[in-house]
Amino acid sequence: MMAKNNKNLCLIFGDQLSHSISSLENISKTNDVVVMFEVLEENTHVKHHKQKIAFVLSAMRHFSEALKENGIPVYYVKIDDENNTQSLDGELNRAIQHFKSTKIILTEPSEFRVKEKINRWVADGRVTFEIRDDTRFLCSHSEFQNWAKNKNQLRMEFFYREMRKKYNILLDDSGKPLGGKWNFDKENRNPIKKNIAFLKKPYFEKDDITQEILNLVEKMFPDHFGSLNNFHWATTREQALALLNHFIDYNLNNFGDFQDAMLADEAFIFHSVLSPYINFGLLNPLEICKQVEYAYREGRVKLNSAEGFIRQILGWREYVRGIYWLNMPSYENKNYLSAKNKLPDFYWNANTDMNCLHQAIHQTHEFAYSHHIQRLMITGNFALLCGIDPKMVCEWYLIVYADALDWVELPNTLGMSLYGDGGLMASKPYAASGKYIARMSNFCDGCKYDPTLTVGEQACPFNFLYWDFAGRHEDKLKPNQRLAYTYANWKKMDPDIKKAIRKQAKAFLETLFGLT
Ligand code: FAD
Ligand code: SF4
Repeated sequence: MMAKNNKNLCLIFGDQLSHSISSLENISKTNDVVVMFEVLEENTHVKHHKQKIAFVLSAMRHFSEALKENGIPVYYVKIDDENNTQSLDGELNRAIQHFKSTKIILTEPSEFRVKEKINRWVADGRVTFEIRDDTRFLCSHSEFQNWAKNKNQLRMEFFYREMRKKYNILLDDSGKPLGGKWNFDKENRNPIKKNIAFLKKPYFEKDDITQEILNLVEKMFPDHFGSLNNFHWATTREQALALLNHFIDYNLNNFGDFQDAMLADEAFIFHSVLSPYINFGLLNPLEICKQVEYAYREGRVKLNSAEGFIRQILGWREYVRGIYWLNMPSYENKNYLSAKNKLPDFYWNANTDMNCLHQAIHQTHEFAYSHHIQRLMITGNFALLCGIDPKMVCEWYLIVYADALDWVELPNTLGMSLYGDGGLMASKPYAASGKYIARMSNFCDGCKYDPTLTVGEQACPFNFLYWDFAGRHEDKLKPNQRLAYTYANWKKMDPDIKKAIRKQAKAFLETLFGLT
């Protein structure tokens, strides 16, 4: 039985499962105790995918066991413990009373919602708080603020170059980018047209902890989105490291070339599927970048792949975190294009005759995963073209992906995908017609619609919706130089075709949203 003698509480959240987390630095095995809570509140503030809940709870339990094995005292509240108050506030209160604590040590929360909660505690003043920076991120808040200061546009590309320099990654001895360019993205847009072998990622035996959690999730969250049948997530750091090594050994070399490609019934292709491990703390972003660079320097992977992959983590991931904290809380209410439509039901059941959407949503249901281009150019693109309310779209993304946390989901969905921030993140909306989807995937082969047709019964909805979107938002978007080509084509389009496009889009949107 643990002594109740004024211990300091070292509070660890579910996305802080790193042995190197700042809150654990200099932990005293006699004066401090790690506290971890599984609470309903965190699992139901939105109704997370079943696999996501199972992944987080199992990873938390494994992490607490690993701490105990290292001799660190842990006070752990399970979600089905009889006296669990099921809220963070309630459990923190109970732990404070239990240990007669006067001090709480924690690493800053990653999400605004949780930070506000902690701020209320701090203001309350009953106990003192020591809140440490989250040093797992590679760019601190103040560094990002300094970089963003006095800039009209916050383009990721320039931020990324600074990060490459800061960490001396993929640079030659004189500090120039290897290969003479910072970015090899132009080489990374190939479709997969013929059979290319990719070695599927390993699956792990479910141990007793994971099996218990899977049963519990099925019992406690039966009406949440998603299936547990294909639960495929690693739940320990050792397993996550094995997946990282597998990715570097077998799939990274082709990651670059086929980064944007999409295939029916193949969710993962050459992607790493590491995001939940990075976001919840099982893997460290810098260790990944270093290992990928090492694989390149050893001649095991091509430069466009190594650079493309490192850019996602060192560039995009840090950049979206910077954007989030720079702009919250007002950011989440932005809606530049005044999109108001409701999220269609098929986002929950994949029941649509548009095969690309069916595939992306079905994969999401089965794996709590779909890769970036499916999120951006299929489900996101459709929501953008149809004018679906950003709040509903953001909630969907937060629910359905195992890697989703507000700080990373919100800028990606609202900013990058929906252009809801009016171009703070994206230099133009990621709007695309069915022709793009036909080029980058094989989805159209199994679809009742024809991606080469813009109007008529067989016309791909993405085609007429794309032009209708351009027409609808001409006032706001036409001045954007990056859309000059689109609006030049729109201008010279036959007026009868324009009329037919607008009519078909209107009928489609009315059927979908019941508008009049
Ligand atoms: P890979 O393609 O193998 O990329 C490697 C790593 O780079 C990822 O694991 C991830 O850590 C990082 N990364 C790549 N792109 C981004 C990005 N745009 N922002 C941040 N990190 C990036 N990512 C999340 O981690 N959580 C989210 O909730 C999330 N929501 C998204 C919503 C939308 C609408 C879009 C368009 C993208 C979203 N992303 C999100 C970014 C990206 O799609 C995922 O990180 C990626 O698909 C995860 O799969 P992977 O690990 O196989 O990535
Ligand atoms: Fe999607 Fe259109 Fe292709 Fe069908 S034809 S899969 S709706 S892009």
